[in-house]
Amino acid sequence: MSKIKSVRTRVWNWKGKTVPPTGNFCANASDALYDRGDAMHSFRFHQWLTCEIETEDGTIGIGNAALAPNLVKAAIDEYYAPMVIGEDPFDYAYLWEKMYRRTHAWGRKGIGMTAISAVDIAIWDLMGKLTGKPVFKLLGGRTKEKIPVYYSKLYAASVEEMQAEAEEAMKNGYQGYKTRFGYGPKDGMKGMRENLKRVEAVREVVGYDVDLMLECYMGWNLDYTKRMLPKLEKYEPRWLEEPVIADDIHGYAELNKGPIPISGGEHEFSLMGFRQLLDAKAVSVIQYDTNRVGGITAAQKINALAEAHQVPVIPHAGQMHNYHLTMANVNCPISEYFPVFDVEVGNELFYYIFEGDPDAVDGFLDLDDNKPGLGIEISDKYISEFEVTE
Ligand SMILES: [Mg+2]
Repeated sequence: MSKIKSVRTRVWNWKGKTVPPTGNFCANASDALYDRGDAMHSFRFHQWLTCEIETEDGTIGIGNAALAPNLVKAAIDEYYAPMVIGEDPFDYAYLWEKMYRRTHAWGRKGIGMTAISAVDIAIWDLMGKLTGKPVFKLLGGRTKEKIPVYYSKLYAASVEEMQAEAEEAMKNGYQGYKTRFGYGPKDGMKGMRENLKRVEAVREVVGYDVDLMLECYMGWNLDYTKRMLPKLEKYEPRWLEEPVIADDIHGYAELNKGPIPISGGEHEFSLMGFRQLLDAKAVSVIQYDTNRVGGITAAQKINALAEAHQVPVIPHAGQMHNYHLTMANVNCPISEYFPVFDVEVGNELFYYIFEGDPDAVDGFLDLDDNKPGLGIEISDKYISEFEVTE
Protein backbone atom coordinates (compact mmCIF):
# COMPACT_ATOMS: atom_id res chain seq x y z
CA MET A 1 0.00 0.00 0.00
CA SER A 2 1.18 3.46 -0.88
CA LYS A 3 2.44 5.41 2.13
CA ILE A 4 2.04 9.13 2.82
CA LYS A 5 5.03 10.96 1.34
CA SER A 6 4.34 14.64 1.99
CA VAL A 7 1.94 17.21 3.43
CA ARG A 8 1.62 20.59 1.78
CA THR A 9 -0.24 23.47 3.43
CA ARG A 10 -1.14 26.73 1.76
CA VAL A 11 -2.95 29.81 3.06
CA TRP A 12 -5.11 31.58 0.51
CA ASN A 13 -5.50 35.30 1.24
CA TRP A 14 -8.26 36.87 -0.81
CA LYS A 15 -7.14 40.14 -2.40
CA GLY A 16 -10.03 40.52 -4.82
CA LYS A 17 -13.19 42.54 -4.61
CA THR A 18 -15.26 42.28 -1.43
CA VAL A 19 -18.73 43.37 -0.51
CA PRO A 20 -18.51 45.44 2.68
CA PRO A 21 -21.26 44.46 5.13
CA THR A 22 -23.35 47.44 6.12
CA GLY A 23 -25.39 48.43 9.14
CA ASN A 24 -26.64 45.79 11.58
CA PHE A 25 -25.58 42.99 9.33
CA CYS A 26 -25.50 40.09 11.78
CA ALA A 27 -25.52 39.92 15.56
CA ASN A 28 -22.38 38.31 16.97
CA ALA A 29 -20.54 37.62 20.22
CA SER A 30 -18.55 40.87 20.05
CA ASP A 31 -21.73 42.92 20.29
CA ALA A 32 -21.47 42.63 24.09
CA LEU A 33 -18.33 44.82 24.08
CA TYR A 34 -18.39 48.58 24.41
CA ASP A 35 -16.58 49.02 21.10
CA ARG A 36 -18.86 47.23 18.72
CA GLY A 37 -17.12 48.51 15.61
CA ASP A 38 -18.48 47.39 12.29
CA ALA A 39 -21.00 44.61 12.55
CA MET A 40 -19.03 41.53 11.56
CA HIS A 41 -15.50 42.82 11.98
CA SER A 42 -14.21 40.03 14.16
CA PHE A 43 -15.99 37.27 12.27
CA ARG A 44 -15.17 38.16 8.70
CA PHE A 45 -12.44 35.92 7.35
CA HIS A 46 -10.93 36.29 3.91
CA GLN A 47 -8.42 33.49 4.28
CA TRP A 48 -8.58 29.76 3.76
CA LEU A 49 -6.20 26.86 4.31
CA THR A 50 -5.68 23.96 1.94
CA CYS A 51 -3.91 20.80 3.03
CA GLU A 52 -2.68 18.45 0.30
CA ILE A 53 -1.46 15.02 1.33
CA GLU A 54 0.45 13.03 -1.25
CA THR A 55 1.20 9.31 -1.26
CA GLU A 56 4.26 7.65 -2.82
CA ASP A 57 2.31 6.84 -6.00
CA GLY A 58 1.57 10.55 -6.58
CA THR A 59 -2.10 10.53 -5.46
CA ILE A 60 -3.08 13.75 -3.68
CA GLY A 61 -5.86 14.08 -1.10
CA ILE A 62 -7.23 17.55 -0.39
CA GLY A 63 -8.36 18.84 2.99
CA ASN A 64 -9.17 22.37 4.06
CA ALA A 65 -9.96 24.59 7.02
CA ALA A 66 -11.24 28.11 7.39
CA LEU A 67 -10.55 29.02 11.02
CA ALA A 68 -7.36 31.00 11.70
CA PRO A 69 -5.56 29.51 8.67
CA ASN A 70 -2.08 30.87 9.51
CA LEU A 71 -2.14 29.24 12.94
CA VAL A 72 -3.65 26.01 11.64
CA LYS A 73 -0.93 25.91 8.97
CA ALA A 74 1.79 26.24 11.63
CA ALA A 75 0.18 23.50 13.72
CA ILE A 76 0.07 21.11 10.77
CA ASP A 77 3.57 21.92 9.52
CA GLU A 78 5.16 21.63 12.91
CA TYR A 79 3.17 18.90 14.67
CA TYR A 80 0.67 16.94 12.60
CA ALA A 81 2.45 16.48 9.26
CA PRO A 82 5.40 14.59 10.81
CA MET A 83 2.89 12.27 12.55
CA VAL A 84 1.28 11.12 9.30
CA ILE A 85 4.25 11.08 6.91
CA GLY A 86 5.41 7.49 6.29
CA GLU A 87 2.03 6.12 7.42
CA ASP A 88 -0.67 4.22 5.53
CA PRO A 89 -3.68 6.54 4.87
CA PHE A 90 -6.08 3.61 5.40
CA ASP A 91 -5.04 3.62 9.06
CA TYR A 92 -7.16 6.75 9.35
CA ALA A 93 -8.66 5.98 12.79
CA TYR A 94 -5.24 5.19 14.22
CA LEU A 95 -3.80 8.37 12.69
CA TRP A 96 -6.64 10.42 14.13
CA GLU A 97 -5.97 9.07 17.62
CA LYS A 98 -2.25 9.65 17.21
CA MET A 99 -2.80 13.31 16.29
CA TYR A 100 -5.40 13.76 19.04
CA ARG A 101 -3.51 12.07 21.86
CA ARG A 102 -0.04 13.42 21.12
CA THR A 103 -1.26 17.02 21.18
CA HIS A 104 -3.98 16.55 23.75
CA ALA A 105 -2.57 19.18 26.12
CA TRP A 106 -3.29 21.95 23.62
CA GLY A 107 -4.91 20.43 20.54
CA ARG A 108 -8.20 18.88 21.65
CA LYS A 109 -10.25 21.96 20.71
CA GLY A 110 -9.81 25.11 18.64
CA ILE A 111 -6.72 25.44 16.44
CA GLY A 112 -5.44 21.92 17.13
CA MET A 113 -8.70 20.19 16.30
CA THR A 114 -9.15 22.36 13.21
CA ALA A 115 -5.70 21.25 12.02
CA ILE A 116 -6.56 17.59 12.72
CA SER A 117 -9.75 18.14 10.70
CA ALA A 118 -7.89 19.42 7.65
CA VAL A 119 -5.47 16.47 7.72
CA ASP A 120 -8.26 13.95 8.30
CA ILE A 121 -10.37 15.32 5.42
CA ALA A 122 -7.35 15.06 3.11
CA ILE A 123 -6.83 11.44 4.22
CA TRP A 124 -10.47 10.58 3.40
CA ASP A 125 -10.15 12.21 0.00
CA LEU A 126 -7.01 10.16 -0.50
CA MET A 127 -8.74 6.91 0.48
CA GLY A 128 -11.50 7.67 -2.01
CA LYS A 129 -9.05 8.39 -4.78
CA LEU A 130 -6.94 5.30 -4.01
CA THR A 131 -10.01 3.02 -4.08
CA GLY A 132 -11.71 4.84 -6.96
CA LYS A 133 -14.81 5.52 -4.85
CA PRO A 134 -16.57 8.69 -3.68
CA VAL A 135 -16.19 9.31 0.05
CA PHE A 136 -19.91 8.81 0.70
CA LYS A 137 -19.53 5.23 -0.59
CA LEU A 138 -16.76 4.62 1.92
CA LEU A 139 -19.09 5.97 4.63
CA GLY A 140 -21.86 3.52 3.81
CA GLY A 141 -23.39 4.79 0.59
CA ARG A 142 -26.31 6.82 -0.58
CA THR A 143 -29.24 7.30 1.81
CA LYS A 144 -31.04 9.83 -0.41
CA GLU A 145 -31.70 10.25 -4.08
CA LYS A 146 -30.55 13.87 -3.79
CA ILE A 147 -29.68 16.12 -0.87
CA PRO A 148 -32.31 18.76 -0.05
CA VAL A 149 -30.68 22.09 0.80
CA TYR A 150 -31.67 25.27 2.55
CA TYR A 151 -30.64 28.73 1.38
CA SER A 152 -28.32 30.32 3.93
CA LYS A 153 -27.79 34.06 3.64
CA LEU A 154 -30.44 36.75 4.21
CA TYR A 155 -28.23 38.89 6.44
CA ALA A 156 -30.10 41.67 8.18
CA ALA A 157 -30.69 44.63 5.89
CA SER A 158 -33.69 46.84 5.16
CA VAL A 159 -37.00 44.99 5.00
CA GLU A 160 -37.23 45.75 1.29
CA GLU A 161 -33.75 44.38 0.56
CA MET A 162 -34.39 41.22 2.54
CA GLN A 163 -37.70 40.59 0.86
CA ALA A 164 -36.15 41.12 -2.55
CA GLU A 165 -33.36 38.65 -1.73
CA ALA A 166 -35.87 36.07 -0.46
CA GLU A 167 -37.99 36.50 -3.56
CA GLU A 168 -34.98 35.98 -5.80
CA ALA A 169 -33.87 32.89 -3.83
CA MET A 170 -37.39 31.41 -4.01
CA LYS A 171 -36.93 30.99 -7.75
CA ASN A 172 -34.61 28.08 -7.00
CA GLY A 173 -37.22 26.37 -4.82
CA TYR A 174 -35.11 25.80 -1.71
CA GLN A 175 -36.38 23.55 1.07
CA GLY A 176 -35.79 26.25 3.63
CA TYR A 177 -34.33 29.72 4.20
CA LYS A 178 -32.07 30.98 6.94
CA THR A 179 -31.99 34.60 7.97
CA ARG A 180 -29.70 36.46 10.39
CA PHE A 181 -30.75 38.76 13.21
CA GLY A 182 -29.16 42.19 13.16
CA TYR A 183 -30.01 43.30 16.68
CA GLY A 184 -29.29 42.04 20.17
CA PRO A 185 -29.46 42.85 23.89
CA LYS A 186 -27.89 46.32 23.59
CA ASP A 187 -30.53 47.45 21.11
CA GLY A 188 -33.33 47.05 23.64
CA MET A 189 -37.03 46.90 22.82
CA LYS A 190 -36.54 48.92 19.68
CA GLY A 191 -34.05 46.36 18.37
CA MET A 192 -36.44 43.55 19.30
CA ARG A 193 -39.08 45.13 17.13
CA GLU A 194 -36.58 45.53 14.28
CA ASN A 195 -35.69 41.82 14.57
CA LEU A 196 -39.32 40.72 14.60
CA LYS A 197 -40.23 42.98 11.69
CA ARG A 198 -37.64 41.22 9.53
CA VAL A 199 -38.71 37.71 10.46
CA GLU A 200 -42.27 38.65 9.62
CA ALA A 201 -41.16 40.21 6.34
CA VAL A 202 -39.22 37.11 5.25
CA ARG A 203 -42.11 34.82 6.25
CA GLU A 204 -44.40 37.03 4.21
CA VAL A 205 -42.33 36.22 1.11
CA VAL A 206 -41.43 32.55 1.63
CA GLY A 207 -44.79 31.57 3.16
CA TYR A 208 -45.39 28.79 5.67
CA ASP A 209 -44.88 25.76 3.42
CA VAL A 210 -41.07 25.89 3.73
CA ASP A 211 -38.78 25.99 6.73
CA LEU A 212 -37.46 29.26 8.10
CA MET A 213 -34.32 29.12 10.21
CA LEU A 214 -33.21 31.96 12.49
CA GLU A 215 -29.56 32.67 13.22
CA CYS A 216 -28.25 34.65 16.23
CA TYR A 217 -24.55 33.80 15.76
CA MET A 218 -23.97 34.01 19.52
CA GLY A 219 -25.01 37.67 19.49
CA TRP A 220 -27.74 37.25 22.12
CA ASN A 221 -27.66 36.15 25.76
CA LEU A 222 -29.88 33.96 27.89
CA ASP A 223 -32.08 36.74 29.23
CA TYR A 224 -32.64 38.36 25.85
CA THR A 225 -33.37 35.04 24.15
CA LYS A 226 -35.92 34.12 26.83
CA ARG A 227 -37.71 37.37 26.08
CA MET A 228 -37.55 36.84 22.33
CA LEU A 229 -38.69 33.20 22.14
CA PRO A 230 -42.42 33.78 22.87
CA LYS A 231 -42.50 36.62 20.35
CA LEU A 232 -40.96 34.40 17.65
CA GLU A 233 -43.17 31.38 18.15
CA LYS A 234 -45.93 32.49 15.81
CA TYR A 235 -43.48 32.56 12.88
CA GLU A 236 -42.93 28.80 13.30
CA PRO A 237 -39.15 28.80 12.97
CA ARG A 238 -37.53 25.45 12.18
CA TRP A 239 -34.86 26.37 14.71
CA LEU A 240 -33.14 29.22 16.54
CA GLU A 241 -29.38 28.94 15.96
CA GLU A 242 -26.59 29.71 18.43
CA PRO A 243 -28.52 32.19 20.61
CA VAL A 244 -25.70 32.30 23.19
CA ILE A 245 -21.94 31.76 23.17
CA ALA A 246 -20.71 28.24 22.52
CA ASP A 247 -19.44 27.71 26.07
CA ASP A 248 -22.83 28.37 27.68
CA ILE A 249 -24.14 24.80 27.54
CA HIS A 250 -26.50 25.45 30.46
CA GLY A 251 -27.98 28.41 28.61
CA TYR A 252 -28.62 26.24 25.55
CA ALA A 253 -30.19 23.56 27.72
CA GLU A 254 -32.54 26.00 29.39
CA LEU A 255 -33.63 27.54 26.09
CA ASN A 256 -34.03 24.15 24.44
CA LYS A 257 -36.81 23.27 26.91
CA GLY A 258 -39.05 25.76 25.11
CA PRO A 259 -41.22 25.25 22.03
CA ILE A 260 -38.62 26.41 19.48
CA PRO A 261 -35.83 23.90 18.72
CA ILE A 262 -32.40 25.31 19.55
CA SER A 263 -29.52 24.43 17.23
CA GLY A 264 -25.78 24.78 17.56
CA GLY A 265 -22.45 23.04 17.48
CA GLU A 266 -20.53 24.79 14.71
CA HIS A 267 -18.17 26.01 17.45
CA GLU A 268 -17.93 22.69 19.30
CA PHE A 269 -15.28 20.04 18.84
CA SER A 270 -14.94 16.24 18.83
CA LEU A 271 -17.11 13.36 19.96
CA MET A 272 -16.65 14.23 23.63
CA GLY A 273 -17.80 17.83 23.06
CA PHE A 274 -21.02 16.61 21.46
CA ARG A 275 -21.59 14.03 24.17
CA GLN A 276 -21.73 16.95 26.61
CA LEU A 277 -24.25 18.82 24.43
CA LEU A 278 -26.44 15.74 24.05
CA ASP A 279 -26.25 14.75 27.72
CA ALA A 280 -27.40 18.25 28.67
CA LYS A 281 -30.18 18.18 26.02
CA ALA A 282 -28.67 21.49 24.94
CA VAL A 283 -29.54 21.29 21.24
CA SER A 284 -32.34 19.83 19.13
CA VAL A 285 -30.25 20.04 15.96
CA ILE A 286 -26.50 19.40 15.78
CA GLN A 287 -24.50 21.58 13.39
CA TYR A 288 -20.87 20.54 13.62
CA ASP A 289 -18.59 21.73 10.85
CA THR A 290 -16.50 18.83 9.57
CA ASN A 291 -13.49 21.04 8.98
CA ARG A 292 -13.42 22.04 12.66
CA VAL A 293 -14.96 19.17 14.57
CA GLY A 294 -12.23 16.63 13.89
CA GLY A 295 -12.77 15.82 10.24
CA ILE A 296 -14.82 13.01 8.76
CA THR A 297 -13.52 10.46 11.28
CA ALA A 298 -14.89 12.44 14.24
CA ALA A 299 -18.04 13.56 12.38
CA GLN A 300 -19.04 9.98 11.65
CA LYS A 301 -18.80 9.06 15.33
CA ILE A 302 -20.90 12.10 16.29
CA ASN A 303 -23.45 11.04 13.68
CA ALA A 304 -23.84 7.67 15.38
CA LEU A 305 -24.19 9.24 18.81
CA ALA A 306 -26.70 11.80 17.58
CA GLU A 307 -28.73 9.13 15.81
CA ALA A 308 -29.00 7.15 19.04
CA HIS A 309 -30.33 10.33 20.70
CA GLN A 310 -32.61 11.01 17.71
CA VAL A 311 -31.14 14.47 17.27
CA PRO A 312 -30.71 15.33 13.58
CA VAL A 313 -27.32 16.45 12.28
CA ILE A 314 -27.28 19.28 9.74
CA PRO A 315 -23.63 20.29 9.32
CA HIS A 316 -22.61 23.92 9.26
CA ALA A 317 -21.74 25.29 5.81
CA GLY A 318 -21.99 23.68 2.44
CA GLN A 319 -18.80 22.13 1.12
CA MET A 320 -18.12 18.59 0.02
CA HIS A 321 -16.88 17.11 3.30
CA ASN A 322 -20.27 17.97 4.82
CA TYR A 323 -22.28 16.82 1.79
CA HIS A 324 -20.66 13.36 1.71
CA LEU A 325 -21.51 12.80 5.36
CA THR A 326 -25.06 14.04 4.79
CA MET A 327 -25.48 11.72 1.81
CA ALA A 328 -24.31 8.70 3.80
CA ASN A 329 -26.34 9.28 6.97
CA VAL A 330 -30.08 8.86 7.29
CA ASN A 331 -30.00 11.12 10.36
CA CYS A 332 -28.74 14.06 8.24
CA PRO A 333 -31.96 15.24 6.57
CA ILE A 334 -30.85 18.40 4.75
CA SER A 335 -27.73 20.48 4.00
CA GLU A 336 -26.91 24.11 4.53
CA TYR A 337 -26.16 25.82 1.24
CA PHE A 338 -24.27 29.07 0.80
CA PRO A 339 -25.24 30.50 -2.57
CA VAL A 340 -22.41 31.43 -4.92
CA PHE A 341 -21.90 35.12 -4.28
CA ASP A 342 -19.30 37.88 -4.28
CA VAL A 343 -16.91 37.61 -1.33
CA GLU A 344 -18.67 39.05 1.71
CA VAL A 345 -18.27 37.30 5.09
CA GLY A 346 -15.87 34.70 3.72
CA ASN A 347 -18.36 31.82 3.64
CA GLU A 348 -18.26 32.06 -0.14
CA LEU A 349 -14.50 31.78 -0.50
CA PHE A 350 -14.35 28.05 -1.12
CA TYR A 351 -16.13 28.54 -4.43
CA TYR A 352 -13.14 30.59 -5.54
CA ILE A 353 -10.51 28.06 -4.39
CA PHE A 354 -12.05 24.73 -5.38
CA GLU A 355 -13.68 23.32 -8.42
CA GLY A 356 -16.31 20.63 -8.13
CA ASP A 357 -18.76 21.86 -5.48
CA PRO A 358 -22.24 21.08 -6.82
CA ASP A 359 -24.78 23.83 -7.50
CA ALA A 360 -28.21 23.49 -5.97
CA VAL A 361 -30.87 22.95 -8.62
CA ASP A 362 -34.54 23.30 -7.65
CA GLY A 363 -33.58 23.07 -3.99
CA PHE A 364 -31.50 19.89 -4.23
CA LEU A 365 -27.94 18.92 -4.99
CA ASP A 366 -26.40 15.64 -5.96
CA LEU A 367 -23.07 13.88 -5.65
CA ASP A 368 -21.46 11.93 -8.46
CA ASP A 369 -21.32 8.14 -7.93
CA ASN A 370 -18.32 7.94 -10.22
CA LYS A 371 -16.13 10.74 -8.88
CA PRO A 372 -13.51 9.31 -6.50
CA GLY A 373 -12.78 11.04 -3.21
CA LEU A 374 -14.55 14.24 -2.27
CA GLY A 375 -14.85 15.34 -5.88
CA ILE A 376 -13.07 18.67 -5.64
CA GLU A 377 -9.80 19.98 -7.01
CA ILE A 378 -7.89 23.15 -6.26
CA SER A 379 -8.58 25.55 -9.07
CA ASP A 380 -6.30 28.19 -10.58
CA LYS A 381 -9.24 30.11 -12.04
CA TYR A 382 -9.09 32.90 -9.43
CA ILE A 383 -5.51 32.39 -8.29
CA SER A 384 -4.51 35.92 -9.37
CA GLU A 385 -7.04 37.26 -6.82
CA PHE A 386 -5.23 35.53 -3.97
CA GLU A 387 -1.94 35.95 -2.23
CA VAL A 388 -0.92 32.38 -1.46
CA THR A 389 1.59 31.61 1.28
CA GLU A 390 3.31 28.24 1.75
MG1 LIG B 1 -24.48 29.33 12.11
